[in-house]
This record gives sequence, structure tokens and C-alpha cells, in this order.
Amino acid sequence: MMQKKRKSRAKRSLGQNFLVDANYQNKIIDVVKNSYNGETILEIGPGRGALTQHLVPIAKKLILVEKDVALAKQLQETYADHDHVLVIQADFIKWDLPTHKDIIVVANLPYNVASQILIKIFKQSKHFKTLYIMLQKEMAQRAIAIPSTKDFSVFSIWCQLFSLPQKLFHLPPTAFSPKPKVTSTFLALRICERDYEEEKEFILFIKQLFNQRRKKISTTLKNSGIPLENISDSLRDKIDKRAEALSIGELKELFFDIQQLV
Ligand code: SAM
Repeated sequence: MMQKKRKSRAKRSLGQNFLVDANYQNKIIDVVKNSYNGETILEIGPGRGALTQHLVPIAKKLILVEKDVALAKQLQETYADHDHVLVIQADFIKWDLPTHKDIIVVANLPYNVASQILIKIFKQSKHFKTLYIMLQKEMAQRAIAIPSTKDFSVFSIWCQLFSLPQKLFHLPPTAFSPKPKVTSTFLALRICERDYEEEKEFILFIKQLFNQRRKKISTTLKNSGIPLENISDSLRDKIDKRAEALSIGELKELFFDIQQLV
């Protein structure tokens, strides 16, 4: 008699909440399918293959990166006969990205490392086209937040500098097993043509300002020794505000103005 494969216990340390609701699996795959044009698909954290099973028949090339050794082995066995599917057992955060262009990412991200994974992608954004990702609702709200709201943060600026994020729909905890305590949100992030190396200094500047987000920008700048005596009226108006009140465009202008002073 064939022995039924036993499912290993979900590991909280790896953020394992598997998407078991078939309606939501289909809803996600429909979104991916609707704009798919033969690009390489990279699934981060395929887990037990909830989304993978639907991606295999549509993808021209599918790369699966799974940190869990046992789950990666199962996927390797399941897809051993599929030449277009490559299963890699690795921590995505440490993994060397392939040199492909226009990669489409599909991921129900492990919530504990979701921001690290996204920042790694943004730092090498030239390889990517669109990210279809699931995040904890609160984090998704930060990704799309606008200035002067409590969710507008350094993470919002990362997301909006390197992509056009769009909220698609929410998923209730009951769509997953084990059930998480939080609601999830499915998003599409269309990657912009931007080079991290050229944005590095701006991001450092932003981090410095948002470290003291309740303070006026002028206070933060003074504390870091920037001379503010002979500045224009329009610049004075800007630094009289809190960083969280400025748009990314205004923060950029401010960054260039401040660079002239030092
Ligand atoms: N995609 C599956 C689904 O929707 O049912 C699983 C999603 S589960 C939320 C997150 C998956 O990411 C798990 O399979 C976990 O083992 C894997 N994972 C966690 N950290 C990872 C990392 N740093 N690199 C790659 N995979 C990771």
C-alpha cells in the first residue's frame, strides 16, 4: 500500500501560514495571468506549493526559492520532471539573484522578513518588472501610505521610489493554515526604472529625518550640524515642517537644497 506523505508541522520561525483557500489562490493567479507575457516567474517561499501548482502550467520559466529544507526537497521531488521549474533551497535574503531581466515575483511573503526581502529586490530593481505579493495588512498600508498619515514611513518611501504599489484585495485569516492573527493584503508593485546606487544618499537622508519624525526638519538638521543661517525663504518654509508632511518629490528637492549647504 502507498504510504501517504505526512505534512511537516508549520514553522512559525519561517512565517509559515499556508494559503489553503482555493478561491483566493485562483484570484491571485488570475491577476498574474492577466498581464503575463512569458517572463521568468520567481516565487519566494513556495512552501507547500499552494500558488506554485497554478504557476507551473502557465510559466515559461519558474524559479522557486524556499528556505525550509524539507519543503524545498518535496518541491524538488514533485517538479523533478518539469524542465522549466527550478527549485532552489536557500534563504532569499542571502541568495545571489539570477541575471535575468523583467522577473515577475509572486509571493505570499513570510511576514517576519517581508521588508528585508522587498528592500533586497529594490536594491537590484533592474532585474524586476512586477511584484505580486501578499503582506500583512498593516505593512501593505505602509507601502501605499501618503504623506501626513501615520503610516507614511521610510518603508513607504522605499516602496514608492522603486515601484508603483497598488492594493488589490484583502484576505481574511481563514484563508490560511495555520490561521494568522492578522488580515493580509495582496498587492501589485510595478517596478520603476531607478538605480539604487543613485538613491542611496537620499535614502540615508530620509532615514535620518524619519528617525525623529515628530520633530521639525530644521531641528533634525541643526542637530546634525547643517548651517541654516542663510537659507532662502522657500527652504525655510519646508524645513519648518515635519518630514512626514512632505511628498517624496518635496523631500527630494529638500535633499538637493541641503546638499548645496554642506
Ligand atoms: N507560498 C506558500 C503559500 O502561499 O501557501 C507559503 C507561504 S508562507 C507565508 C512563507 C513561505 O516562505 C514558507 O514556505 C517559508 O518556509 C518560506 N520562507 C521563510 N523565510 C524565507 C526566506 N528567507 N527565503 C525563502 N523562503 C522563506
